[in-house]
Amino acid sequence: DILVNQIAAGEVVERPASVVKELVENALDAGALRVDIDLEEGGVRLIRIRDDGGGIPPEELPLAVQRHATSKIGSLDDLEAVATLGFRGEALPSIASVSRFSLISRREDEAHGSALEVEGGRVGDVTPRPHPRGTTVEVRDLFYNVPARRKFLRAERTELGHIEEWLRALALVRPDVELRISHNGKASRRYKGDEDLFSGARLVETVGREFADNALRIDHSAAGLRLHGWIAKPAYSRASADQQYLYVNGRAIRDRSVAHAVKQAFADVMYHGRQPAYVLFLELDPTRVDVNVHPAKHEVRFRDARLIHDFVYRTLHEALADTRA
Ligand code: ADP
Ligand code: MG
Repeated sequence: DILVNQIAAGEVVERPASVVKELVENALDAGALRVDIDLEEGGVRLIRIRDDGGGIPPEELPLAVQRHATSKIGSLDDLEAVATLGFRGEALPSIASVSRFSLISRREDEAHGSALEVEGGRVGDVTPRPHPRGTTVEVRDLFYNVPARRKFLRAERTELGHIEEWLRALALVRPDVELRISHNGKASRRYKGDEDLFSGARLVETVGREFADNALRIDHSAAGLRLHGWIAKPAYSRASADQQYLYVNGRAIRDRSVAHAVKQAFADVMYHGRQPAYVLFLELDPTRVDVNVHPAKHEVRFRDARLIHDFVYRTLHEALADTRA
């Protein structure tokens, strides 16, 4: 089973940023409003994620690191309507099979916290451990037992950059959650929680004042689709595609077709050859989009891709064309 988990880890865990993603998504699924992310050496030496969410009862700690024991999917119908970010029940077992792993948690109604350690997939016993309400997951020495994978890790700064970029994308869609990031013992970023998404405060914290000052607010619905967020006016166009954030039903994803629609709308208004900057949220009925295409859920498949492309194109073309008048 350790081997099965390590093979699954090959799909789920590419680098420290993928571990951070899975663990932070678990924290959010548990209702956390504050998440502390402590990193050492770009996350390779240590990733520690502490949340103030609901916690895990002691008797369920072993299940959390057991493959598919917690899968929220009972049928194909469930698969179409999952609301939580995680649903396969394989992230923790996978991560625990390729690291020195510990899980410490306390629910509100428990007298004390409980800990479970896993080393390279070998699961220890549940022991008492002080902990405030919520959960801490520690992942040390990622890929220490899989040298072939460890070899592909990049320089500390590169791995840290991937983590920070993912957290920035998250911060944009969850302004209600406070995120504190430290690296090698020094506070490196803090996104203050409790902000109204459309006040634009989180926009300044994440993509900067200049983008925010040039941002056109978008909010348009038609045919059961809603597109909202911001696209920067052509005056703030970019040389590279570094500020393009797209979310489908709250998940950060990459989608060529939607990205093309945005770029085309932008290019058709003005500034050929430049890249638009945007933070856009597409909302649609979950049954119209398959999120189960990619193990790390970076990509989705739309049932009616053409319709969505045209909706995005028309919405943005109209908004941008107005700026020209
Ligand atoms: P899933 O696909 O369900 O997210 P994971 O392997 O990521 O699977 O996590 C396994 C289970 O462990 C989750 O379904 C959840 O019940 C529990 N869990 C993991 N992390 C947390 C957390 N931070 N707070 C509360 N429960 C957690
Ligand atoms: Mg998960």
